[in-house]
Amino acid sequence: MKKFYITTPIYYINTEPSIGSACTTVAADVLARLHRQLGEEVFYLTGTDEHGEKVAETAEQAGLSPIEFCNQIAPKFEEAWKLLNISHDFFIRTTDPRHEKVVGEVLQKIYDVGDVYKDKYEGWYCIGCEEFKTDKELVEGHCPLHPPKKTVLKSEENWFFKLSKYIPQIIELIENPEKNYIFPESKRLEILAKLKAGVNDISISREKVKWGIPVPWDKEHTIYVWIDALINYYSATVFLENKADFWPADLHLLGKEILWFHTVVWQAMLMSANLPLPKKTYIHDFYTIDGQKMSKSLGNTIPPKEMVDLFGVDGSRYLIARSFPNNGDVDVDIVKFKEKYNADLANNLGNLVSRVCKLGIGLPIPNPSKSPFDKGDFTNLIDNLKFDEAISWVFDNFIDKSNNRLNEVAPLKLEANDPKRIEVLTECTQNLRQAAFYLQSVMPTISQKILDLLDGEIKPLESGLFPRIV
Ligand SMILES: [Zn+2]
Repeated sequence: MKKFYITTPIYYINTEPSIGSACTTVAADVLARLHRQLGEEVFYLTGTDEHGEKVAETAEQAGLSPIEFCNQIAPKFEEAWKLLNISHDFFIRTTDPRHEKVVGEVLQKIYDVGDVYKDKYEGWYCIGCEEFKTDKELVEGHCPLHPPKKTVLKSEENWFFKLSKYIPQIIELIENPEKNYIFPESKRLEILAKLKAGVNDISISREKVKWGIPVPWDKEHTIYVWIDALINYYSATVFLENKADFWPADLHLLGKEILWFHTVVWQAMLMSANLPLPKKTYIHDFYTIDGQKMSKSLGNTIPPKEMVDLFGVDGSRYLIARSFPNNGDVDVDIVKFKEKYNADLANNLGNLVSRVCKLGIGLPIPNPSKSPFDKGDFTNLIDNLKFDEAISWVFDNFIDKSNNRLNEVAPLKLEANDPKRIEVLTECTQNLRQAAFYLQSVMPTISQKILDLLDGEIKPLESGLFPRIV
């Protein structure tokens, strides 16, 4: 059986689930469900990133130990994903001792081949990002993503990883267009430019941070949270026995703020540890609200629960997939979501289902297609994260077409046994079934409901699938 292993980033536990993390998680879920529909054996991994200075600091402010704090927040992610009907196979937490053990083993391999050395490091460090910043990355002397007070001058003895040693190999990999190793193209070019501008080695340990996994050969140091976190994609396939043959991942899905670590540092670590590399990495842009990046400090985020309360589970998944930022940032807000929901789901798809079910009650459906659908345009578009185009394709070919036919033929004005009425209702039914097969990965529950309503004979619809929202 063909295998498909897909990951989201593990979300940093210092923030709560938002529409930003929901966007990546829903996108990965659509792919996971589609590949299951295609008969593949899927492993979908998501989770939380729980170590580091920022977590320890936030826990202290809340009067909790770091692990108590993590134990409070991690379930919030699991609840949010349950609410959005996310079908992940495993939720990994980096405080899981099984993960910690694998991290130590990978680091030891990197150390044993001589890719690690001790050096003194001094530089500007952003506690918000948990990373040292180069002068080029600072704006007015501080990290542009976080308040100025988060950027501090740090000097300490660190263990360094010979990242620079692997840069020529990584450039070769990314330059090979056949591998389509990083996509979309704009992100591939961005990373190539950055690689060619010159790369320094990277510090992989922290002397003063206690909340982390100890460095195996120097217990006074903890492993830098980013290094620990990246290894989750591999560690899950090591400690989960039935997932042993899933590494390397088929697709890492992530947002652009973590592009560098995933496409450069992670590859170099794997090369050093002599482990297979992930097959593809996809980088998406951001959702913005009024043109601004969503953030906890600005308080302008939309929690998944707020969306689900308004638009239902499948409505929320649909809106997220439709607006998925695959070609530049996408500005979203509740008003725009309402308009889209009403136009596409309440007035178009929902209305079609209720018209067909009302006019055609009891009408037998000849030879309903049992095979879900052909691999083709739709599958390709989803595999390339072009959800908006994929869904438009379904609407154009099956849903809009049927609504137009119903308007044209006006079956309501025809006698119940008029062959023209039966013909148009049968045609719409087949189209709707086809649409529902295609939309199963995006709207699993409602698609199944449509298939059930149109199975064998047309059944009455008790209440609208998508109530209009005012
Ligand atoms: Zn920062």
